[in-house]
This record gives sequence, C-alpha cells and structure tokens, in this order.
Amino acid sequence: KREQLSPEKLAQNLCQADDVDAQMSLMVRLFEFSESERRLRDLLVTLFQEVFLEFFPGSAILPFGSSVNGFDVSGCDLDLFLDLEKTKSFQASAKAPNIPQDGASPELDTHSEDSILSDIDLATTTVPEVLELIATVLKKCVPGVHRVQTVLSARRPVVKFCHKESGLRGDVSINNKLALCNTRFLQLCIEADERVRPLVYVVRHWAKQQALAGNPFGGGPLLNNYALTLLVLFFLQMRNPPVLPTVNHLKELSNADEQTTVDGWDCTFPKDSSRLDPSGNKENLCSLLAEFFREFEDYDFAGCVISLREGRPLPRPSLLASEVSNKLKLGPFNLQDPFELSHNVSANVNEKTALRFQRCCRDAAKYCRSLQYQRKSTKGKIWGIVRLFQPGNPEAVATDGFVLNLPLKLSAGPPPPCELLNRAGDLHQAWFQKICAGVAFTLRDVLGCSCFETPQGCGEEAVSSGFQQPEEQIEVKMKLLSAGTKRPLDSEEGEGALSPSAKKSRTDASLPVGESTTWDCSAWQHVWLGRRRVRRQLRGTDLDPTTTENAGSLELEAKVSRLLSQQEGEATPTEPLLRFTVCAQATEAASGEPGPRVRLRFTPALEQAAAFQEFFHFLQGFLPRMVEQYLVSKT
Ligand code: ATP
Ligand code: MG
Repeated sequence: KREQLSPEKLAQNLCQADDVDAQMSLMVRLFEFSESERRLRDLLVTLFQEVFLEFFPGSAILPFGSSVNGFDVSGCDLDLFLDLEKTKSFQASAKAPNIPQDGASPELDTHSEDSILSDIDLATTTVPEVLELIATVLKKCVPGVHRVQTVLSARRPVVKFCHKESGLRGDVSINNKLALCNTRFLQLCIEADERVRPLVYVVRHWAKQQALAGNPFGGGPLLNNYALTLLVLFFLQMRNPPVLPTVNHLKELSNADEQTTVDGWDCTFPKDSSRLDPSGNKENLCSLLAEFFREFEDYDFAGCVISLREGRPLPRPSLLASEVSNKLKLGPFNLQDPFELSHNVSANVNEKTALRFQRCCRDAAKYCRSLQYQRKSTKGKIWGIVRLFQPGNPEAVATDGFVLNLPLKLSAGPPPPCELLNRAGDLHQAWFQKICAGVAFTLRDVLGCSCFETPQGCGEEAVSSGFQQPEEQIEVKMKLLSAGTKRPLDSEEGEGALSPSAKKSRTDASLPVGESTTWDCSAWQHVWLGRRRVRRQLRGTDLDPTTTENAGSLELEAKVSRLLSQQEGEATPTEPLLRFTVCAQATEAASGEPGPRVRLRFTPALEQAAAFQEFFHFLQGFLPRMVEQYLVSKT
C-alpha cells in the first residue's frame, strides 16, 4: 500500500516549487500512480480477464475511468467493464445446432454440467441475474478479492469488490460501453494539450477539499469527478482562442473509419491527437486556474445547459424544442454528457451545492487576484495553490453543507397528525422532544457514537433562519398563540423568549420556532462503511439483494455497528475519528411540504469538514429511517 499524502506533506512539497505553474505540474506527479501501483492494476486486470474468460468464453474485461483516462490518483477505484457481447453470440450459435460454429470461436461447452452457463441464457437473463453471477465468480474464483457486493440501485448497476492485500476498491459493470468511449475522449483531451492534466488535478483537489465533489460512495448532492472534469474541459473550449476543440469539431476532424455509434449516440472523434491543430492559446496554468474560478463565480448553471458538443452554454428554452430535451433531467446544475446527449451528468447536484460551488469559485477567484497566490513567499508562508486546498470557510461548509431535514411523513401511519401538530399547524413540543430522543438514540445506541446533550443553542445563524430577530420571533409566537391555543398571552410575560431552559420547562408548549436541542458528539469507528455486507451476513445470504439494501430494524442496525466496531479493532481508540455537534431545531415546512420538519445541523470540528462529509452522506439516508422506526416503536 502506498502511504496517503497528508495535507501537511502536500503543502510542504508545493510551497517549495518556484511558481504556480510548477506547483500545478507537481500536483500531477504527487497524485498520479506510482509505477508499482500501475503494475498492480495491470496484474489485477489480467487476473480478472483470465478468470472471466474461463466462465464467460469470449468475454473481455476492459478498464475505464480514472485508472486509465489519465486522471489517475493514487488509491482511486478500479472501474472495469465486462463485455459479454461475444459470449452471447457464441452461446446463441452453440444453441442453434444447424448453424455451423465459427471456426475461430473458442469452444463453448454450454451443455456440460459444470459450465456456469449451462442453465443460463445470456440473451434473456436480466442485468441483476448476470451481476449475481459475476459476484459469485468473483467470490469463489478470484483469489485475494473480498467484500464482493452487488449494487443494483446505481444508475449503472455494478458488482463492487476489494483487493485484500492492497486495499484497492473496484467495480465491474456490464452494458457500459459509453463509459469506455468517454474514457477515450478524456485521454484524447489530455493528449491534445499538456495544460489539461494539471488543471484538472488542481480543480478536482480543490473541489474535494471544499466538500463540493468526490463523494467516494457516489450519489448524494455533490459533483462527481467525471462531471467536474467535463466542466474543466468545457472551460478550456470556451477560452479565446480555445485550448480545446469542441466535440463537434472533433467529429469533423475524424476519418471515415473512426465513425462510431454507441447505444445510438454518435461517439465519433479522432483516435489520437495527431490530426488536431496545436492550440493558439498561450495562457499559462496560473492564469487559467484563476480564470476558471472567475468564469464560474456567477455562472447561471440552472438557466442553461453546458454543452461540450458545441463548446457553449445552450439556453434552456432552445433546448426545450429539441428531441433529447424531453429526457434530459434539468436542475440546478446542467452539464450535458458530450455523447449521451440526453444525460445530465450533474443531475444529482442540488441547489445548495450549486450555490456553494459558485460561492467557493468566488472566494477562490478573489484569492487568485492576491499576491499571495501569484508569488512564492519569501518568508516561508503558504502561497499559490496551497491556500485553495484549505477548507476556506469551515463555517460556510458547516452551515450550508451539513443540514439534514427530517420532513415528517404525516401520512405514514403513526404519529397521527393530530398529536404531531398543534392547532396552529406547528410541530407539537412533545413530538419535537420525541424526535430528538430518536436522533440521540440513533447516534448513541445504534451507531455507538458518544452523544451528550449540551445547554448551548444552535448559534445565531441557526436560530435566525426564517425569523431574523428575537423580536420577530416573539411576535410570531404571539400570533400563533392567539390563533392556535387557549394559553393566555400573559403567561409568556417575562419569559426570555429565546431561553431554551425556559422553553423546556413548559409542559404544554406549542411553539416550535427557535426550539432547539444540541448534542456534543464523537464517532469512534468507521461504522458507516461496509454496513450492507454485515447486514447481509446477519440476515443470511439467501435474501433478495434488493431488500438487503435498506436499513434493518433498530436492533439489527445496532448489531451491525457493534460487529463493524469489533472488526475495526478490539480496543477502544483513545481519540475519536470525528467530533461534531448536532443541533436539532423545529422549523417551518418548506414550500410544497405537508408539515413542519425538524432540521438537524451538523457542525464538524474545525479542519474535519472534508472527512465529515462521508459520514454525513451516510446519515442523510440512514438517520431519517431510524428516527421513523424509533417513533413507531414509541407509539
Ligand atoms: P474517480 O474514480 O477518481 O472518482 P472516475 O473518472 O473513475 O474518477 P467514477 O465515478 O469512478 O469516476 O466513474 C468511472 C467512469 O464512469 C468515469 O470516468 C466515466 O467514464 C463514467 N461515468 C461516471 N459518472 C458518469 C456520469 N454521471 N455520466 C456518464 N459517465 C459517467
Ligand atoms: Mg473511478
């Protein structure tokens, strides 16, 4: 295993470079695969190929993604595509006894008892079935591979695996030829101009540090590395003169034998860069990076569709008239895949992330105008791109990035609406407290975190959302009181409207605005990693894989955490992995939501924002389900 480069080491290394261009080129050398890592990946691919050939005659295992597209980062996952086209046609011809077999085809004994294909017809088998088969082959026949798991919920279903000795993670997919094609496209862009690689490495690392991209589990509201890379390429197409040609122009430069269509999409571009003209653009890396941030600081991501085909943003309305637009899922961040034109590669990005992306670009652009960015420090201070990698404003990440809303499903069984809400339609205090108890129970008893209630409130910003001033809060309270409950107004007199202790002492309280509870928490072990595998072990392996995706009961989940903690290490660690506070607050319903909700604000310890992100993404899916179960168990 290669040692991970610590942020301190990275900063130290980069600060020794002579200028920003040298820093950016050094980034590539510090992050890319070492010779041995590349060899290990090649060996693994060969091993997989041999094993799969055995079971699926004629098949090919083809690596794609960051292992081969030129944006490799030490430790990144190994994306593999299993091409079963030939296997399918061999099987079809073997089944038709009248058609003589192609002499060149390998012998395919699909009728023999021990052939894995003896009772499976690839032409009619469903994707989940084929993936289960692949999972079985990986588990039973590939030495040194463990944690094999089929994930059907992803846009492209995959079988995940882990190489024991190196810790390398990877996945095998089928029906993913477009990814091979866009992998070649990224390779071509790197070949076309030497500035592409350093720029992408720096932007990717910046976005990861700002918790804007790079969720290792996929999904969630952040940009993925593929989308971010396309954004950089688009930026380079837009420079004047352009650094990179548009995809349409690449098509024009192609030969007849390079015409390619995959899944109905035109994927034509030259095989190599020899036919491309060198760019007339002479900007250096230092200025391109600054310009990247400037370009996107006020960008209207929601109002247009970024097109690498045309190398310009397409206005949304003009797109509406076209054919593909019906399928293109538009949202706050629209980045059209250069080949699969009906696919918005950033459709998962939510409005908050899109806005935060702009804000982070603005901060970065501002920093890039300073001398600290442009010139090496003579006093040993950090300078250049190093500052961009510090979580700029942890406050901003914490206040915007780690908020989890628990919308209360009024329709789904208990709790019944009448108990949940007071007459003014607000969340009843008793219910708020029950939900808080559910949150604490999940963190403490289900996940094994330490979790202590503290008297501290949610802080100025948290309390003020929706209601700016304490005076306004009092006013709203009074309005609600007179509209909703019979409590005499004068009983509020003298009660500091914002004092949490005073509010807690009320028994019949009905005013959720500003009501809050805060806990100081620590997570001691990685209980958010590998839960599905353990859950499946506990439930037995014969269950339908789709049901094992979901969280189990409170008891089962607590068991899963205990087992995971045991696996991670017998002794209790002396230092927690993560420290954070959680503040729960009753808030108004968002527009379109049927009822009020409880907002949970997570604030990680300073410097932990990037690491906390992983845990938070897990909680986004997990916590609401657990709290729901807790409520059901208490009614
Ligand atoms: P890394 O693994 O370092 O995050 P990557 O480029 O390998 O970078 P993955 O998320 O592993 O990113 O995806 C692997 C490949 O799958 C990508 O390189 C791209 O070819 C394809 N891909 C990923 N996400 C998308 C998407 N949203 N739309 C189209 N293709 C995608
Ligand atoms: Mg990858």
